[in-house]
Amino acid sequence: METLEPRGLYYAGGWQRPATDATIVTRNAATLETVGSTSAATPEDVDAAVRGVRRALDEPDGWSSWSAADRADRLEALADALATRGPRIAQVVSAQNGMPIQLAAQLEAGMPAATLRYYADFIREKDFAPLRAGRHGGTAQVREEPVGVVAGIVPWNFPQTLAFTKLAPALAAGCGIVLKPSPETALDSLLVADALEEAGFPAGVVGILPGGAEVGAALVAHPGVDKVSFTGSTEVGRSIAEQCGRLLRPASTELGGKSAAVLLEDVDLTKRWGDLFGAALLNNGQTCYATTRLLVPRSRYEELVGSVAAFVGSLVVGDPSDPTVQVGPLVSERQRDRVISLIATGVAEGGRVVVGGGPGERFGPGWFVEPTVVADVDTTSTLAQTEIFGPVLTITPYDDVAEAVSLANATPFGLCGTVWTEDLALGARVAGRLHAGAVGVNGYVPDPAFSFGGWKASGLGRELGPEGLAGYLRVQTVHLAAG
Ligand code: NAD
Repeated sequence: METLEPRGLYYAGGWQRPATDATIVTRNAATLETVGSTSAATPEDVDAAVRGVRRALDEPDGWSSWSAADRADRLEALADALATRGPRIAQVVSAQNGMPIQLAAQLEAGMPAATLRYYADFIREKDFAPLRAGRHGGTAQVREEPVGVVAGIVPWNFPQTLAFTKLAPALAAGCGIVLKPSPETALDSLLVADALEEAGFPAGVVGILPGGAEVGAALVAHPGVDKVSFTGSTEVGRSIAEQCGRLLRPASTELGGKSAAVLLEDVDLTKRWGDLFGAALLNNGQTCYATTRLLVPRSRYEELVGSVAAFVGSLVVGDPSDPTVQVGPLVSERQRDRVISLIATGVAEGGRVVVGGGPGERFGPGWFVEPTVVADVDTTSTLAQTEIFGPVLTITPYDDVAEAVSLANATPFGLCGTVWTEDLALGARVAGRLHAGAVGVNGYVPDPAFSFGGWKASGLGRELGPEGLAGYLRVQTVHLAAG
């Protein structure tokens, strides 16, 4: 694979010289070879990038004043430009964070364009200034205006999909955005800059500042930022929300999860392994919505523990660039060590490892963890309460559906959940009792049209669907007096 080299920072309509010579060097998560390097942004670069976006919005014919139809055309051009780069994007993402190449090709190279096209279609149809009749006579025009300059801060696990979960609705709304990718996955953001250029986006509407926490913090605090859209850990999201509260600056936070998969008594897993894998182990378990906490009826406990362990033990682990691989390495040594240490804590607290449980040196020099199942996990234990972010499933028995629902809801998080059953109506009823922002029956697959967002410690606000667009609009009511 061709190595990517530093080109400066992309903002204010081109590649700019960074404030320092700092670079981010990225290693392949499976082989530990160098994939490439990028210029690293520092807090000193933030002001110029924010100003670049502001200018692009405020010019007389700036992006905010474009018609929705013209914005939609640009979103589609960007989707086309990404599509031509799809295979390269998939390769780079997979090398950086260990995502199996098949998944990277499907999701990371596919979902951003799908999300752009969804919002292009949506804004062509949307009335941004509907008239509403008043109760005292007269009418009002309820205008939805772009909120302005957005700071979009994203994690490393789905760097493209999550970036476009912000870029697409923000741009559709008429906002501009400074995107801050994670240092772990800085390289793929260079390809986004190229796609923006090819799509003919007006200069400066999007800035990209790959960098660490200090760059994110400088963006959140910058007085020129009108809205913060953050995806990442609950700890950081909470501190950003606190700061934005003080500043009275709108913030949406998509945070961590610890989601349950409720297996109902009638479930036939023989036809559902692919869907269970997608909902619980996607991207080597590095998925915020992964429903990794399996709640299993006691009447079928040993049978289901055995079949889940056999399935997880049969997964193909290895270099994620191999299209037959289902589970690759974790993003970093730190993540690998954290997952191994959490498994050890789970065992010390009474969990029983039925498959896996250790580091996966035999799969390559990178940061592998054996796909693992820990049974007999008490719902109050560390393993049942802490987001693991690795290929680890826990299994806990329950006696009746009421107990299953109560166990599913017994964490501080509320991001997602799944219910597994042969009775869809029952599944939908149980889904409705879970305290989570998104629940799937017999699987979970994100869709640009379906709103996504956490409850409780999993965040505030929604992304995707019409609700995702609403987060980048602010309302102005223009009263039109009667007569
Ligand atoms: P993280 O919170 O450490 O970092 C996320 C991003 O925030 C990175 O770009 C990071 O550089 C930046 N950042 C860190 N500290 C900051 C600060 N003080 N101010 C501003 N920016 C800061 O999270 P991570 O480890 O990169 O990602 C994994 C976490 O993200 C998991 O908890 C996962 O569940 C969560 N996540 C949530 C969703 C969702 O949609 N709910 C999606 C994917 C990942």
